[in-house]
Amino acid sequence: MKRRIRRILSLCLACILLGACATEDGRVLDPRFDTEEYLPQYDMQNEFSFTNVACETEDIIYYMMSMAEQQIHYYNKETGEGGILCGKPECTHAENGCNSFAITAGGLNIYDGRIWFITWNPSAPGSILYAMDLDGTERERIQTLSYQGGHSTKMHLHRGYLYIGVSQREVIDGEPSYHFTITRQEIGNESDEPELVYENRARMSQQFRYIFKGNSLYGYCQWAESTDIEKTTELFRCDLRTGTQETLAVWDSTSMNPGGLWIDEEKIYISESELLGEEEKRETWTTQLWVWQYSLKNGTIEKCMEITHPRAGGQWEIGPDLYLGAVEQVPQEEKFAFTIMDISGEMVREYIVENSPPEGELPGQMTYGMTEEGMICSISWMLEQKEKGDPAMLEEIWWVPVDPTEEVRELAEYYTYTLA
Ligand SMILES: [Zn+2]
Repeated sequence: MKRRIRRILSLCLACILLGACATEDGRVLDPRFDTEEYLPQYDMQNEFSFTNVACETEDIIYYMMSMAEQQIHYYNKETGEGGILCGKPECTHAENGCNSFAITAGGLNIYDGRIWFITWNPSAPGSILYAMDLDGTERERIQTLSYQGGHSTKMHLHRGYLYIGVSQREVIDGEPSYHFTITRQEIGNESDEPELVYENRARMSQQFRYIFKGNSLYGYCQWAESTDIEKTTELFRCDLRTGTQETLAVWDSTSMNPGGLWIDEEKIYISESELLGEEEKRETWTTQLWVWQYSLKNGTIEKCMEITHPRAGGQWEIGPDLYLGAVEQVPQEEKFAFTIMDISGEMVREYIVENSPPEGELPGQMTYGMTEEGMICSISWMLEQKEKGDPAMLEEIWWVPVDPTEEVRELAEYYTYTLA
């Protein structure tokens, strides 16, 4: 309660300091949003802050494949039932008219009782935002977006706005650089020009995340200026009522993989990891994993966990109850491993995928998100092609419950073929 009062007091203070400007701009789109409490109908699902190709209701997870496929799938955690999300009568789910079609770049969002996603606009540049009922019916075109794409896109719906975060290459005075922006525009209002919420420019690669709490956006951006080894990470906050932004913390990073971002009542958590060992000898690989915690009360940042872990390549997501989850590679065996641990680094569950195609190489893995109940992730294999027309890649989606007594399940698989 004390914290609440302090927050209200500090908001009042901000209003006084900003004066008339705050009265004019310090607003929310709807009186329902005039609260710092969590609104399940209208707030982003912070569990899916990575590429958000997954989202969930209490019983059902919705997800897409990260590789070639462009259809929304569902999985019912209670019944174990799942498939392509399309409620269109007599649909073969193979043609463009299928209700399940979307593009992974836009991600999936549950908002106001429906599922939201984008597809490219076939008749003009840009893309289109759609919403659909959760049973795959009533697919509705909402608005055309000027958004042009970008592999790093993270698109989230929160309290009446569509937010798009993207890092794009540009050239300034003949020098290449990266430009990271988060913009927002009103959902359902095509004439609303995208408004800049945050931006950062850097010479070398940028990685970023953002999540929401009430009427604040919290995010990090990691960038490099001259070499990809020396990186800087900034944790920032944007006040969405007043349009102001502040830097909360800045630190030097040795990580190749800034990962999960999570916020609770008192702290913000950021995971980072670095691959150790000799590059050409995968049997020597291990991972250094650590978690930062930023105190919202004190404005201080410190490491709350640091461990060495005998796996490689994991992108660690943080979720409710501060569980960390990642899909990783087992260095000695060319296998995938799913790992869930608590914030102190104690192992909660580990599962090694035993059905690897024997000749398969491991090109990639992706942790979609860590929820209260479990982790959803994607793994893929490069396949040996014996004859023309053989599949070239296999991708599988897996569900890993936090509870070690519940079964780890493969939800779907998808083969990609090269053109013969
Ligand atoms: Zn269909």
